[in-house]
Amino acid sequence: MMKIFPKIILKRGKEKPILRGHPWVFSGAVAKAEGDLSPGEMGEVYSGDGKFLGIGQFNPRSQIILRLLTRKKETLDSSFFRERILQAAILRERELKGKTDAYRVINGEGDFLPGLIVDRYGETLVLQCLTAGMERLKGLLVDLLVSHFNPKTIYDRSDVPYRREEGLPEAKGLVYGKEILGPVEIEEYGCRFRVDVKEGQKTGFYLDQRGNRFSLQKVSRGKKILDCFCYSGGFSIHAGLGGAKEMTMIDSSEEALERVKDHFALNHLERFSPRLIKGDAFEVMRGLETDYDVIVLDPPPFAKKKGHLPGASRGYKDLNLQAFRLLKKEGLLFTFSCSHHMSWDLFQKIVFAAAVDSGKNVQVLSRMGHPIDHPVNLSHPEGEYLRGLVLRVL
Ligand code: SAH
Repeated sequence: MMKIFPKIILKRGKEKPILRGHPWVFSGAVAKAEGDLSPGEMGEVYSGDGKFLGIGQFNPRSQIILRLLTRKKETLDSSFFRERILQAAILRERELKGKTDAYRVINGEGDFLPGLIVDRYGETLVLQCLTAGMERLKGLLVDLLVSHFNPKTIYDRSDVPYRREEGLPEAKGLVYGKEILGPVEIEEYGCRFRVDVKEGQKTGFYLDQRGNRFSLQKVSRGKKILDCFCYSGGFSIHAGLGGAKEMTMIDSSEEALERVKDHFALNHLERFSPRLIKGDAFEVMRGLETDYDVIVLDPPPFAKKKGHLPGASRGYKDLNLQAFRLLKKEGLLFTFSCSHHMSWDLFQKIVFAAAVDSGKNVQVLSRMGHPIDHPVNLSHPEGEYLRGLVLRVL
């Protein structure tokens, strides 16, 4: 029996987002389905009046029933994926060469490969397949990555809770090349870091903050710095190389603070003997002295779901209020949100409310966002999540 190419037909009017380039089809938009829509299967999507809209990957278990790969009638074979990977790689190689050997090679929807994340740490690649579609293509993707990057190792870090929404178990382990025996050493604007790609947070490092860390490096000379939510010390190492005078660092993770010590040694910054405080930043900040020149606030995402926004907003406000209180006159605050559901507008309002409560005059010097290796598909604004402000307190 001939296999029918599965397809979905949308309810009338529901084709608009797709026509504008949005890659997601929600199950509620579907009028009719034909053929085998099993998780990860490829198939076509049509408008209510029978117009072809594109080809993508299905997952009937997810609220996002289809993620679109192309709006053309074309064959999605290995050369299709090779070309998408090539386009992503060209951007990074052109923009980041000589600045860092650690970057996001493929940023999912932002690189028109929904559900696929690939990070590069020197000669090691780390892969995350977030959707059933990408999970099914893992073998092909690994082959294509090997032929483009010739890495020593590809490690799978698909151990992310999001996979449950796709009906997939978490997955983790070596998928190509040599076993990883210890941390992988990388360089970022002259700073060296050792990244634990097997056990570290995310794929081991917060690559998305690279450019913002470098901005801190440039204003750190002679400054007393407070680095809240420091993880393995990214911001502080940049500050150290930029000539900072003193550093205090807070994180709740013991392993992260162990890495911080290692990173100070690795960068020949032992002279600092930074003050490392393990604890809840909300509590710790309340007990600190009020004489910092620069404060970094880089908390984890408080609003992973829309319903978390009110609680998250209170959290951001409290932290920013504490930071304004602790800053000296002419002090700088680097404040971030990496919550998908926190808009620029709301984030700025929260920071504004904190400034008002602090009784200080505050200027916005600049906005900070994603670096070049975290591009966002213009038709998919949901892909933007990192929002930061540099503020000056008077
Ligand atoms: N600035 C870091 C990334 C920070 S990620 C960098 O550039 O690499 C957020 C960090 O916050 C994680 O390391 C996590 O361990 C820590 N964290 C989470 N909740 C916390 C809390 N309540 N108090 C202090 N640290 C916390």
